[in-house]
Amino acid sequence: MGKTKTCQSCGMPMAKESDFGTEKNGSKSDDYCTYCYQNGAFTEPVITIDEMAEKGGAIMSQMYGIPHENAKNFAREQLGCLKRWAGREILFCESCGMPLMRDEDCGTENDGSKSTKYCIHCYMNGKFTEPNLTKDAAVEKYAPMMASHLNMPLDKAKEMVAHYISTLPRWQK
Ligand SMILES: [Zn+2]
Ligand SMILES: [Zn+2]
Repeated sequence: MGKTKTCQSCGMPMAKESDFGTEKNGSKSDDYCTYCYQNGAFTEPVITIDEMAEKGGAIMSQMYGIPHENAKNFAREQLGCLKRWAGREILFCESCGMPLMRDEDCGTENDGSKSTKYCIHCYMNGKFTEPNLTKDAAVEKYAPMMASHLNMPLDKAKEMVAHYISTLPRWQK
């Protein structure tokens, strides 16, 4: 309970009850946010992933000083992992947020089975690879990668990473 879910159409984190869309019978949707989904239907049923990435990218570009083209491509990568666009729900690493697209991306449990929660970089043989990593240290670690990947200012990258990882279960109190 109280676990943040991600809208499987736009990628918005949904924490409060009012963030969730609604089904035909008035119950809350499990998968989609209130902006994307109401009364059991998408609010924009014909929107394409590129149009969605264009919108999301424009917002990110403005908020975080990311060059527009980079923001759009990044948004498209993220959207491509969501149920509405991928056709199935792809899990994200609950520590770093990396999508667990393929089996090789998944971490391993003690018995050698694949983790369904964490990626191979964060979790091996049933343990975190960096068990003492704090949320702040994780921001310091991931922000420079994000900054160079998206060609954005480092302080903005820190803001974005801090905001993003606080939605991941490992960092939620
Ligand atoms: Zn949404
Ligand atoms: Zn990870």
